[in-house]
Amino acid sequence: MRPSDLDPSFISHAPGYWTHEEMSRWSDYKWQLRNRVDSLNELESRLRLSDVERAGVLLAGNKLAMSITPHFFNLIDPEDPDCPIRRQVIPRLEEGWNAPEELSDPCGEDSHMPVPGLVHRYPDRVLFLVTDRCASYCRYCTRSRVVSGVGEQHLETQWEAAFRYLERTPQVRDVLLSGGDPLLFPDDRLDRILTRLRSIPHIQFVRIGSRIPIFLPQRITPELCEMLRKHHPLFISIHTNHPRELTTEVRDALGRLADAGIPLGNQSVLLRGVNDSVEIQKALVHKLLMCRVRPYYLYQCDLINGSSHLRTPVSEGVEIIEGLRGHTTGYAIPQFVIDGPGGGGKIPINPNYMVESVPGKVTLRNFEGKIFEYPDPSMIPTEVRRSLEEQAFTAAP
Ligand SMILES: *Cc1c(COP(=O)(O)O)cnc(C)c1O
Repeated sequence: MRPSDLDPSFISHAPGYWTHEEMSRWSDYKWQLRNRVDSLNELESRLRLSDVERAGVLLAGNKLAMSITPHFFNLIDPEDPDCPIRRQVIPRLEEGWNAPEELSDPCGEDSHMPVPGLVHRYPDRVLFLVTDRCASYCRYCTRSRVVSGVGEQHLETQWEAAFRYLERTPQVRDVLLSGGDPLLFPDDRLDRILTRLRSIPHIQFVRIGSRIPIFLPQRITPELCEMLRKHHPLFISIHTNHPRELTTEVRDALGRLADAGIPLGNQSVLLRGVNDSVEIQKALVHKLLMCRVRPYYLYQCDLINGSSHLRTPVSEGVEIIEGLRGHTTGYAIPQFVIDGPGGGGKIPINPNYMVESVPGKVTLRNFEGKIFEYPDPSMIPTEVRRSLEEQAFTAAP
């Protein structure tokens, strides 16, 4: 762990691996997209790879593409072979092995689609997969079967059928746009999608799941924010895993979204060698609060094919939550969840603070391990009730 990763200050990592001339175009998100690191050649021209990584890159081409924006690439520490940033985006040989417990569709989404692209698992809300492309690809992507366009399946969102399903399904009051990354769409296209959703009276709440503020903060333009604010109430869930990801550029992009009145939440994935410690998680959630982002979920890594080197035992997530609760701001603490393999939905996992429960009382422990008893409510004794009734009667005007 780099000591600076625990430092709450925000820094820019540019120009980093790029030259000062290229910096003139650094804040142009189209330049960032055009200059993504997406081949072995480009990667090796900037960074010394291990054999395990070189094998991973060569194998990634038919599974989940590699693509890294210059902005995010700059967070990689060239001196650190175990850098938590490179583990998230540079493929490794281990990705090529599917452990026996792993699945290509770990959350059972394909079997919960009434229309291709629309996952309807919970009674009142849907997950709308609007694109299969992202600004960069996370190696532990839960939708690697469809995302990036090189995997075993293709995402075929049926737009008109999906909108008609939503129109005739009044129990859906909440639509979550995800993918892929919806903020990769041009403003006018996103505007049309949000306008169509907003024209459905029973849809009360719309949110977008996006890692663009982290991978490509330059995309969060004032024009995008002006468009989004027309569609309130609109929430955005970002995805960040490590405090180094919260740079000055990211902080400013998140500030623009917050200033547009968009409530922001963060979803992290607990990853081995990336953020599997209380210190890193605490530094992350503190920086998120400084960016006006409320930590929302901490996910146990899904049983995605080729992810065993990135997954942790469930007990580590519980220890992290115990290390946060009581020790820091309540607003900073995410809910730890496991997406039930095969389609169970998000299941909350909590440390057990209730030591014992017997008729009449529970025994609790606090964050310091001290024991407290909380009794059930007592019944008012009959003679007290009578006496109070008498007092009230004599006091009557
Ligand atoms: C995560 C998810 C949602 C949203 O769940 P919340 O707990 O409301 O954030 C909705 N549908 C699907 C299929 C999901 O995976």
